[in-house]
Amino acid sequence: MNFLDCHEEPIHIPGHIQSYGYLLGLDLKERTIKFYSENLKTLLGVDENFLNQKIDHYWDVFAPILESPVYFSFKPQKNNESAKSMDIVLVNKENYHITIYHFDGILYLELEKSLEDESRTQNFYKSVEAIQLAKDDKTIWSELVKNIAKITDYDRVMVYQFLESGIGRVIAEEKLHTMETYMDLYYPESDIPKQARELYTKNLKRIFSNIYTQPIPILSSLKEVDLTYSSVRAMSPIHGIYLKNSGVSSSFSTSIVVENKLWGLVACHSSEPKHIDLYNRVQAELCTVIAANAYGSYRAKMRLNYEYDFSLKSASLKKKMSNFESFKESLFSNIKNIIKFSDADGLAIIADEDTKTVGATPDRQTILRIAEWAKLNVEDPIYVNDNFYNEYHQILDLGKNTCGVAITLFEKSSNVILIWFRKEFKNHIKWAGQPQKGEVETQKLFGKEKTFISPRSSFHIFSEEIRGKSRFWNRIDTTTLSKLREILLEILHSQFEKMTNLNRELSKLNEELDSFSHTISHDLATPLTVMKLNAQMMTRNVTDDQAKQRLTAIIGQIDNMSEMMQNVLQLSRLKHSEYEMSIVDPTAAIQKICEDAKFTYNPETHLKLGNLPEIMGEKTLVYQVFQNLITNAYKYSSKKEKPEISISGAVEEACVVYRISDNGIGIPESEKGDVFKIFKRIDNAKSFQGTGVGLTIVKRIMKRIDGGVDFESHEGKGSTFILKFHNPESYLKQDLPS
Ligand code: ADP
Repeated sequence: MNFLDCHEEPIHIPGHIQSYGYLLGLDLKERTIKFYSENLKTLLGVDENFLNQKIDHYWDVFAPILESPVYFSFKPQKNNESAKSMDIVLVNKENYHITIYHFDGILYLELEKSLEDESRTQNFYKSVEAIQLAKDDKTIWSELVKNIAKITDYDRVMVYQFLESGIGRVIAEEKLHTMETYMDLYYPESDIPKQARELYTKNLKRIFSNIYTQPIPILSSLKEVDLTYSSVRAMSPIHGIYLKNSGVSSSFSTSIVVENKLWGLVACHSSEPKHIDLYNRVQAELCTVIAANAYGSYRAKMRLNYEYDFSLKSASLKKKMSNFESFKESLFSNIKNIIKFSDADGLAIIADEDTKTVGATPDRQTILRIAEWAKLNVEDPIYVNDNFYNEYHQILDLGKNTCGVAITLFEKSSNVILIWFRKEFKNHIKWAGQPQKGEVETQKLFGKEKTFISPRSSFHIFSEEIRGKSRFWNRIDTTTLSKLREILLEILHSQFEKMTNLNRELSKLNEELDSFSHTISHDLATPLTVMKLNAQMMTRNVTDDQAKQRLTAIIGQIDNMSEMMQNVLQLSRLKHSEYEMSIVDPTAAIQKICEDAKFTYNPETHLKLGNLPEIMGEKTLVYQVFQNLITNAYKYSSKKEKPEISISGAVEEACVVYRISDNGIGIPESEKGDVFKIFKRIDNAKSFQGTGVGLTIVKRIMKRIDGGVDFESHEGKGSTFILKFHNPESYLKQDLPS
């Protein structure tokens, strides 16, 4: 295949080396010559073909190598392949660096001229110390670039960090005063292709001394010569074009590897061709390793601080949240504490259709739309998106504050969703040239015609305005939110357990209470009847009016008490009995109740009956509901001059709504919240007989038949009680098998 994309170029087997170096490859066991660079023959002053010959047979030619202590003392280490040994040898009366290492059964020998530039190493230890003493990452990297600039004397030295998103950013720089700064510039991901990144973790330094010189071919009896660990490897010609485009003639770089991952690079550029001594390159590599280690320790320390801080915050949150009875309540009440865990601008908590927000969030409807979307689309425990607005504003009709979101759902059944919001991050990213790649081009690379996508040619600083995006949710953000989620889950489970226990205790208590009220109503019925009988008998014999009145009052109170007990009994029965829903026509019942109530309370009462449609319910229960409400309407309007009552029902989609209105005493505003409570009687009703249980029964019955009851009332003007039943038509349709 002749076509090459940058990330496909096999840069570890270029078949060439750079012109400053010499290469020799021996079979590790046999010591036969497997390959050598063409220029080696000139250096050693011979013109023979050595391939597949034993090196020992050419002792004189290779004497500088074979007699060097580093060669005969070299022992391949099994666990440390590619470990290098270095020394100086004399070739043609000149000093050469010799580097020996083995890899994949081959002994590699590399030579390059020593430049003996001691001056650059003088401050080495001092600078290394400065890196090690650095208190923060910024200082580590700025000391590193200073140090490497001193060692290498390149025009520009910069630390280039690979961000999580893949792009690179310049975070430290040392340069000639005359040059423009590249500090904070971003580089597109494609500038450093994948296979180059892999190679950089294995071989931590590389120099491209002069991009304009021709590389030296390797003569080889092997199919390919792997130069992964070589110091003289020829550079990728495509990379050469890239450097040429950017106005660089020589480049040197070292890899910053943190926790076994390529974290960044130190990149050195010179506008003129430039070669630096191998010792200086090794020193630069060492400095980089020391800086990477210092950064690793700094990061570990920061992580520890973070963990400590997180555990303090989470312990306090757990404590605060444990004081509530439901998960929802504890979330809502602690929303301000929860948002403190994240670096978000706003937080919305959605639980059972209710929402609570803090900070900058969109409106309630938008929040609910995002929540519905999340229920269908979010699979991960934590979903993050810094481009949410751009991706979804058309589908979800998003508005302000929705550029970035992080979402978590708690066990679908519990119906709780947390959405963190980040606002638009109005930013101008400065790129070191247009991020897009160039055209397809064909060129002779290492003597062979190749077609490839040319690297970008624009290196003019290019400012891109970022719109509709928020700050990036990085690993720390997502880890923090995941950990927070774990804590909330823990709280949810412990609360669930607590609630289940509580419920169990409560239902036991209720059962006891039920059987108590049951017994008491029964047991009290007999003595009450006896008391009433005796009182009635006494009234007959008493002549004193006052005594007669008192006895009548006693009898009245006894009746009241019996009624109260009957009601309580009815209430407790309601809970236990099973009912079957059916279509009920309440017309006859309503008419009968009205008739009776009219004579009991005020025969002058004017009744207006409207439509009385059928409803879904249970006959006896429905009767009780109408009985209680209609009786109340008659009772509480009976003292009016012209009592008026109206009853009508209407079908409203899936419901049938009944309204029972009177023009009676009404319910004061301040008491409206309590009327359904058991035994509650309002002051303005005290002159009417009653027990305060009727409305409680109504409420409970309506709940049992899956309906609802509400009211509207104005003190002194009257009340309307509103009953909502299922519409039989739509109710039965639901049940039909589809
Ligand atoms: P009661 O036996 O006292 O009527 P209920 O439970 O039926 O008990 O009603 C509770 C209280 O609600 C009543 O005591 C009264 O204060 C108020 N109330 C109920 N219905 C009406 C109404 N139609 N008009 C005014 N007040 C009412």
